[in-house]
Amino acid sequence: MKILLVDDVQMERMQLAIRLKQLGHIVEMAESGKEALALYPDFNPDLVLLDITMPEMDGFEVSQKIRELYPEWIPIIFLSSHDAPEIIANAIESGGDDYLIKPVDKLVLRAKLTAMQRIAFMRNQLNKKTADLARLNQELEKLASEDGLTKVRNRRDVDKKLKEMISVHGRHTMSLTVILLDVDFFKLYNDNYGHIQGDQCLVEIATTLKNLFARNGEVVGRYGGEEFVILVGHSDVYQAEGHAARVKQTLTDKCITHSYSDVAQYVTVSQGVISLQPTGRETVDELYHMADRALYQAKRQGRNRYVIYDPSMEYQEQ
Ligand code: GH3
Ligand code: MG
Ligand code: MG
Repeated sequence: MKILLVDDVQMERMQLAIRLKQLGHIVEMAESGKEALALYPDFNPDLVLLDITMPEMDGFEVSQKIRELYPEWIPIIFLSSHDAPEIIANAIESGGDDYLIKPVDKLVLRAKLTAMQRIAFMRNQLNKKTADLARLNQELEKLASEDGLTKVRNRRDVDKKLKEMISVHGRHTMSLTVILLDVDFFKLYNDNYGHIQGDQCLVEIATTLKNLFARNGEVVGRYGGEEFVILVGHSDVYQAEGHAARVKQTLTDKCITHSYSDVAQYVTVSQGVISLQPTGRETVDELYHMADRALYQAKRQGRNRYVIYDPSMEYQEQ
């Protein structure tokens, strides 16, 4: 163990240090509470052996300071020639774990160190397990919010994000853009190139969208099947149109071959776009419904295009 030994009497400090080193420990010595506190963070001890009677700052105060400054627990054993019950009680009260009466008996010292080492080992195991658990939790959280195939957000997560955005944009009277996007003639793509290549095509589209909308306040998710959703915060209708145009242009440039599409020689998408300043009371489904109406018009008007939602679409035939 790394042991921080704090004692103002040089002779006692030296003798104990030699014994501890003989037992195989690494020892750092401090002759005052102040020095001990200064050494503590760099040395990062597994155990502190702390004298009680010292000038300026006594052992009780040092122990309290250690407990205050370093919430991660390590054992503190007090050393003192006093054996009055109230002093022992005070030592434990101020954060100590055990108490040794000076002169310290060799056998007792060894036994107490063994006990503390056991606890220190268990503490390390626990810390490791806690860190493992935190990492696993993080992974789990990612898995729970990610679409398995395309690695963009899954539907549940986009819904959650959209709900938050409706509320925030309502509160700050800002506009919000939602784009619902559907791959054109994707059934024909699958039928002709096979399902595996179909999957790859979806991954490529998703990755393209993720790269296009990677800024803070921009969200890309899989709505379902071959449909994706893009959310852009703080974005008015002109910006919304710009975003949709950017998607169209980027996919044109990508030129993923689709010889069986009726609209182009490459994979295209249709987009339903809405931009609105929410009150904060709109539901996620209401916004999807509007985007879906616009998407339907984009399909009807010939695909490979975007259409901005207009309330009159509610009365057009479905
Ligand atoms: P439209 O232009 O009207 O959208 O025509 P479409 O063929 O794209 O639309 P339709 O809804 O008829 O077909 C969608 C196809 O998307 C059918 C389905 O097999 C395919 N699809 C949905 N999810 C996946 C997936 O995860 N992987 C693959 N490979 N195909 C998928
Ligand atoms: Mg579809
Ligand atoms: Mg489609």
